[in-house]
Amino acid sequence: MSLDTPLTSLSRIGPKFSKKLEKLGLKTVGDLLFFFPTRYEDLSHITKIDEITPGADYVVQGVIIRSHTHRSFKKHMAITEIVVEDESGAIKAIWFNQPYIGKALAEGAMVNLAGKVAEDQHGMYLSNPLYELIGAPMRDTTHTGRIIPIYRETKGITSKAIRYFLSSLLEWVKELPEYIPHEILTRNNIPLLKDALYAIHYPKTLEEASHAHQRFIFEHLFLVSLAREQRKKENYNSGVPLTIHLEEIKQFIDTLPFTLTEAQKRATWTMLKNTGEATPMQRLLNGDVGSGKTVVSAILALNTVLNKRQIIIMAPTEILARQHFETFIRLFQAYPIAIGLIAGKKYHYAFEGLSSETQKPILLKSIRSGKINIVIGTHALLEKEVVLAHPALIVIDEQHRFGVEQRAILTRDKHVVHPHVLSMTATPIPRTLALTVFGDMDISVLDEMPKGRKKITTKIVSPENRMQAYEFVRSQVKKGFQAFVICPRIETSAPSEDIKKLPTQQKMLWWEVKTVKDEHEKLQSLIFPDLKVGILHGKMKSDEKEAIMKAFAEKSVDILVSTSVVEVGVDIPNATVMLIESAERFGLAQLHQFRGRIGRNEHQSYCLLFTTSVVHLEERRLKAMTTTHSGFELAEMDLRLRGPGEFLGEEQSGWSDIVMSTLKNPALLAIAEEEAKLFLTHHTITEIPALHEKLESFTSKLHLA
Ligand code: ADP
Ligand code: MG
Repeated sequence: MSLDTPLTSLSRIGPKFSKKLEKLGLKTVGDLLFFFPTRYEDLSHITKIDEITPGADYVVQGVIIRSHTHRSFKKHMAITEIVVEDESGAIKAIWFNQPYIGKALAEGAMVNLAGKVAEDQHGMYLSNPLYELIGAPMRDTTHTGRIIPIYRETKGITSKAIRYFLSSLLEWVKELPEYIPHEILTRNNIPLLKDALYAIHYPKTLEEASHAHQRFIFEHLFLVSLAREQRKKENYNSGVPLTIHLEEIKQFIDTLPFTLTEAQKRATWTMLKNTGEATPMQRLLNGDVGSGKTVVSAILALNTVLNKRQIIIMAPTEILARQHFETFIRLFQAYPIAIGLIAGKKYHYAFEGLSSETQKPILLKSIRSGKINIVIGTHALLEKEVVLAHPALIVIDEQHRFGVEQRAILTRDKHVVHPHVLSMTATPIPRTLALTVFGDMDISVLDEMPKGRKKITTKIVSPENRMQAYEFVRSQVKKGFQAFVICPRIETSAPSEDIKKLPTQQKMLWWEVKTVKDEHEKLQSLIFPDLKVGILHGKMKSDEKEAIMKAFAEKSVDILVSTSVVEVGVDIPNATVMLIESAERFGLAQLHQFRGRIGRNEHQSYCLLFTTSVVHLEERRLKAMTTTHSGFELAEMDLRLRGPGEFLGEEQSGWSDIVMSTLKNPALLAIAEEEAKLFLTHHTITEIPALHEKLESFTSKLHLA
């Protein structure tokens, strides 16, 4: 047997169970072993029957002196009653509608029962307790009389079943080899893999379980650090060192209509130095919406052009790519810099402030010949035919919008020499998260907003003030400003299976969630018939989207009703109102992103939050929006309250546990980093094949830029 052995070959798991286990993502022995409990119940203390009182939970142990199953008259429900006796007394236990229990619990057998004690006119009884037959007193048990692990369950697979499947593996676990060097583990009092795996499923005490968890958190942090250090080692001297053209850069900065913030200067200087090295830069520029990341990337782009090298700038949407194209044309209108745009099926070329549409083969050819200095585009840039002559800098805007593979294609696969990589994100990533998950990148933070920005007034609006809010929107439009209305959904569709499972009340709420189509219709025909209300969502064709954004930018649309597609980088300085429907459905970081779409001019801007139901009005999270203006603080709060799902997306959801634990124990991260560095200074990774293999499979799942 190995970790890769399919679960179907375990004698306790037939084809029926293995199908169900697959629903939990469990296919192999390794999957099952690494399927950790979500919590534990302490059933280790056995109470004498004469010591129990009604209302509390107990574990009792005794002999079954009576067992009886009958059907109730009215409902034909099976009722199983047994009486268990120990040396101090006897107690009844009752189960409803589980007739098989009566068969399992025969008179004379020794049993553990764990559950709540209730009382009626006949006396005390255990109601629906957990039961486990035991051969003899004091023998080891799996489900009661100890600390019981509780797992994520699915239909037909209970925690009890998982414990049963696992119990056949636990002996074998004791032979699993270790892949982390022993001295590292002993030095830091971290348990061996085999001991940790055993203890996580079969702990003697809660402390032992928690110590076992530490092992896996340490392992994760150690591997992240090792991946980063290893890559630094591999990439050493594999890139293009760029000379810093300080004079020209200073001149360029002088042409800007504003002075750079200190944070912008710091980040720019750090990156100029990074790109001056032969080892490729891997840096994440993390700055709140509007903190001015674009101009920082432009300065680096200029320096790269001055080194006669090319730049690629990739953005997640056509709107954003186009906007960068316009911005770069404007910034470099006095420079002999050629800029290309590949977005959707459209191809553009620009030089010295003038741009025109061009044809694909022509543009691709000038990119390949090196004539185009800066290539801007969407993921269309990833296509094989887009080949650059001598790229040296890659900028990935809103990097979290791209998959691991997409980024790998752009940053590694397509190029012979490794370009410098500047990833940018406006999602304020809490430090802990950045280090645990994006741990393989260096990080710069723009934590300072350009001067003169007004704080956006944010209010939670209760339903009775809805009309008032609309009047306010109207008054802003009358003053010549524009407004966004954000809804979580495009249109009402059939609820998903998950939604269907919710209790009726919550299910009803689901139908109340506002949709872009309904709201657009309502606002245009009912509320603002005299104004122009536009609509934007992800299912529209790209030229439709483009047309509406253009109309909004040109002010021929007053109010834009949109889904979260506007979240990313759209720049409409004239908008002063952001009205968000069903705000509780968004993460704080995301709400903060929406809010960042406004407040981009010298006038006061307003963010109005509506909730799906009054129950959400009091949410602490939403209230934080009204008092906190720092994206980092909001992100940190979201991380604590809702976990890292929001930041990580589906594929990494399994890492929640790690991130949350690191939040609680930041010292462990520092230790892991230290150990990884130390290890690689004295060893090469291939010296320990098991560790090497583990690292490979680990990094394939990591957020590598
Ligand atoms: P983001 O970091 O969200 O990408 P942008 O780069 O789009 O932000 O910048 C937002 C706006 O702020 C742009 O209009 C830009 O010209 C302007 N800006 C950038 N840096 C400064 C600065 N130091 N002072 C004033 N305005 C600035
Ligand atoms: Mg931006």
